[in-house]
Amino acid sequence: MKTPTPPIYVTQPLLPPLEQFMPYLEQIWANKFVTNSGPFHQQLESALCEYLGVDHISLFVNGTIALMTALQSLDVKGEVITTPYSFVATAHAMMWNGIKPVFADIEPGSFNLDPARIEAAITADTRAIMPVHCYGRPCDSAAIDAIARRHDLKVIYDAAHAFAVRQDGVSVLRQGDLSVLSFHATKVFNTFEGGAIVSPDAATKRHIDNLKNFGIIDEVTVVTPGINGKMSEFNAAFGLLQLAHIDAALARRRDIDRHYRRTLEGVTGIVCLPHDAGVSANGAYFPILVGPGYRLDRDTLYHKLRDAGIVARRYFYPLISDFPMYRAMASAAPSNLPNATRAAAQVICLPIYPDLDAEQIERIVALIAEA
Ligand SMILES: *Cc1c(COP(=O)(O)O)cnc(C)c1O
Repeated sequence: MKTPTPPIYVTQPLLPPLEQFMPYLEQIWANKFVTNSGPFHQQLESALCEYLGVDHISLFVNGTIALMTALQSLDVKGEVITTPYSFVATAHAMMWNGIKPVFADIEPGSFNLDPARIEAAITADTRAIMPVHCYGRPCDSAAIDAIARRHDLKVIYDAAHAFAVRQDGVSVLRQGDLSVLSFHATKVFNTFEGGAIVSPDAATKRHIDNLKNFGIIDEVTVVTPGINGKMSEFNAAFGLLQLAHIDAALARRRDIDRHYRRTLEGVTGIVCLPHDAGVSANGAYFPILVGPGYRLDRDTLYHKLRDAGIVARRYFYPLISDFPMYRAMASAAPSNLPNATRAAAQVICLPIYPDLDAEQIERIVALIAEA
């Protein structure tokens, strides 16, 4: 009897050899510093600043608490314009701050917020814009910046997908007022759970660091109702180890990206999104659009892949705006979001992670191409 092949998931966490993690653990056990900005936490902050090409980073327990804290740190209230085509945490972070998300449509070619639709969604209550660099593809930040300046709005990027992405050699994490990263296990760079806020200056970082530590200044001084958003030493140590492997992991992801593009090219009705010029992509996701010219509809292909043990994912279906806590909002109407609605109906993200091998890629492509 044939042994069943294990499923191929859409992603797999990058896990360097366990023995390489042991020295870090021994150090934690030796110095008994397990959290509250210990030595590994401090090392990871500076190592990430250097690697990513940014000036100030605050580590967090996860990306969602980082998003919530970013909104708090800029005292954002009222309405925030955002995309429905994202992971649900983008809008949830607003709800936990008593902020009303206002959904604007995406551009069909980029999966990112359409600047013209942002501007049309501004009301007297709008205080900020929260765009997402969807799949790590950079937003039109020049246009978004211009709108923000014109209307005196803050810009907080949900950059959960954009680890290491550069545009014309500059990190996209330097755009806007703040950028928020996720280091969840499913992301390109992971600390099991984790996240970060990138700040433009030291004072902003200090304020954010204070907010993530209950608002405590010292033993007898608490200045603001902060939260517990701190990353532990265990997670920070794992991040340091992973940084030593990240270049190879990113290179492998880009290879897989090229392999998919090359082999899917001739398949009628399947669209791969071209990379933008000047962008160093991170291969975080490999979305395809299953167009009307393909012989199956999207969900039939999705289930066919599942039945063959290929656990691809429909990121992002359903749209955030289709979940029950959002769908009654005026901006959530599908008629307001035609491009996002179409993308959600056509997209499949194929498996992509460093350990995915050529044979597995060929098997996935063969299933899609099969006549
Ligand atoms: C993963 C993700 C988040 C949430 O990050 P966590 O670290 O899982 O809390 C937020 N926004 C987007 C776009 C994400 O993909």
